[in-house]
Amino acid sequence: MQSQCIFATQTPVGPPVEIIRHSFSANAKKTGKRVSLVTGLHGDELEGLYICHRLMGILKEREAQNALQGEVHVYPAANPQALDSGTRLWPFFSVDINRTFGENNTHSLATDLSKALLADLKSNSDLVVDFHASNLQLMELPQIRIIKDFEKKLVPLAQLCNVDLIWVHPHADIFESTLGTNLNQAKIPTLVIEAGICLRINKTYCEQIILGILNLLEQTGTLQCTEPRTDIKNPKLLQPHQVAMVQSPNAGLFVKSVEIGQALQKGDKIGDLIDSSQKQKEIIAPCSGLLFTLREYPTTGQGAPLARIAIEETS
Ligand SMILES: [Zn+2]
Repeated sequence: MQSQCIFATQTPVGPPVEIIRHSFSANAKKTGKRVSLVTGLHGDELEGLYICHRLMGILKEREAQNALQGEVHVYPAANPQALDSGTRLWPFFSVDINRTFGENNTHSLATDLSKALLADLKSNSDLVVDFHASNLQLMELPQIRIIKDFEKKLVPLAQLCNVDLIWVHPHADIFESTLGTNLNQAKIPTLVIEAGICLRINKTYCEQIILGILNLLEQTGTLQCTEPRTDIKNPKLLQPHQVAMVQSPNAGLFVKSVEIGQALQKGDKIGDLIDSSQKQKEIIAPCSGLLFTLREYPTTGQGAPLARIAIEETS
């Protein structure tokens, strides 16, 4: 393993902010791809950090066994100060780093960082995986979200990653300044994985994704494959019209009565909403299907998401 600092800046007090790339590489002729794993753009999303630590341990062993056929680059902390303080944003500036990529952003220290990271990824990668957890409100089943424009190239790669579902989105302006969109526009296929909830580690989901990334590395010829994996999930592929969103009818407290990952029938109770007049309203599944998003943070405003269901197609 070789470690290199790809960006450093002085802080008013204390040590500098540094982004480190750890690289694992084949000794002999490289026949496989160069795959980069990025995590921690949002400092309160810790599952990617755990996944990268675990993968780095495995990659160290595989490198010593000469089992690498390509290169793997791991960027375990892309926003170190946010990670230190457990916040989504870079604390000193309150900036979302994952909204500063691309040419249209004015110059700032945050855009210096995102430019350096983007340039380093572009020059070292044939394929990138960007790990995210959900926000504080919603728990998510392991999923890969793909913008419609990149569907053809990304879906076959996403199917290797052992996630529960692949959700194809229409393009929106908000994605223009994300790392994923900028790399995909630069023709470097980039998968954005989202799983769990922020500030926590869901070990089951992490183990699932670790297996998926090892499978991706093996199937792309980056890592030698000892025996074919038979335990990789076949994810549901969802187009936008195949997702039902359940929103809160009023402000109040949402108390769930189901668990994420459950197969729901139309009319099943998802939970109760208790409003300020102590009225209790049952929240009901509007369709049958897999519950893949569920509100964990009880306080809710009118219209806030409570759940998302992958609609079961009736044949
Ligand atoms: Zn994130």
